Amino acid sequence: MKIAVLAGDGIGPEIIAQAMKALDVLKRDGLQLELEEAPYGGAGYDAAGDPLPEATLKLARAADAVLCGAVGGPQYDALPREKRPEQGILRIRKELQLFANLRPAMLFDELASASSLKPELVIGLDILILRELTGDIYFGEPRGRRINARGEQEGYDTMLYSEPEIRRIADVGFQAAMKRSRKLTSVDKENVLETSRFWREVVKDVAKKYPEVELSHMYVDNAAMQLVRKPKQFDVIVTGNMFGDILSDEASMLTGSIGMLPSASLDANNKGLYEPAHGSAPDIAGKNIANPLATILSAAMMLRYTFNQEEAARRIEAAVKKVLAQGYRTADIYETEMRRVSTTEMGDAVVAAMG
Ligand code: NAD
Repeated sequence: MKIAVLAGDGIGPEIIAQAMKALDVLKRDGLQLELEEAPYGGAGYDAAGDPLPEATLKLARAADAVLCGAVGGPQYDALPREKRPEQGILRIRKELQLFANLRPAMLFDELASASSLKPELVIGLDILILRELTGDIYFGEPRGRRINARGEQEGYDTMLYSEPEIRRIADVGFQAAMKRSRKLTSVDKENVLETSRFWREVVKDVAKKYPEVELSHMYVDNAAMQLVRKPKQFDVIVTGNMFGDILSDEASMLTGSIGMLPSASLDANNKGLYEPAHGSAPDIAGKNIANPLATILSAAMMLRYTFNQEEAARRIEAAVKKVLAQGYRTADIYETEMRRVSTTEMGDAVVAAMG
């Protein structure tokens, strides 16, 4: 199991080091993990003049999974667009053909008071939002500006999904549902959009391969409402790029802190790139106060989705739950009477909790 580790910038190296400690415990206990680090983002630019240096891309291609910290920082803001750290993210996703973005919104009950919703609505919350990442109105052609028949300027984009694009994301959705509680909600806007009508038809067809999964369909406006009204009704949500962009951010807020949220982006063979949902947090970089749990939980997702190591994934997740129950809190999730810890202390606590 080969893992390319791209720590990136800002808090990236600090939080990645904690995830590597957790993976080291699994290695010690016999899991055959090979980890190799390479520069990426601003660090890639500093090392090789490129946010995704050739050698880093080569390593990522050869690996089975890529574990990333985060990229970006004010010192890179003045660079030309193609040299900016964020281009490293976009390029690696494209190069590795990562089309499925998985964003769990899982609330650790110990953090229920950090949610924007009442505790009874979110205690036990565990949903997975699956967003298609390479198609839809964000990439559809034609797009642009033009002068219309009335001589007015207008802007336009094209919402577009091909059948293979819908099939492959639907497959990931059903497979994820099979690993969880076998409920899949496909979100669209079928009452208005032709693309959505087609989306729904194809998803229904793919469903025939997965008779064990209970499939339902929901309009995106209703889904946005239901997520804040009764979020626990969902298990896995599958949707297109734009709807998924919006719903996954909405769902993330139900869980309180951005420092807790992992994410995965997968290709057709379950090779994946795993990273926290947050950025490089330059405001707190180098202070040893960042929350490493999103990154540690990203490593758990990697074990589950790329390596099929469910037991190892659960071991990490259970350790995170345990440290929260023990009262360990980094500054971003701190509440009075809790044990305030640094980034490294949180990493050590997770390692200790893994036994
Ligand atoms: P951010 O997520 O880095 O930070 C937003 C706020 O959340 C900050 O106050 C930060 O201190 C806090 N925060 C974030 N992660 C935290 C953690 N683990 N523990 C504690 N607090 C945490 O978003 P931003 O400030 O908008 O962006 C900063 C840089 O990150 C920019 O250069 C941006 O382009 C980049 N960025 C990178 C990624 C990525 O690498 N995938 C994603 C988003 C933003």
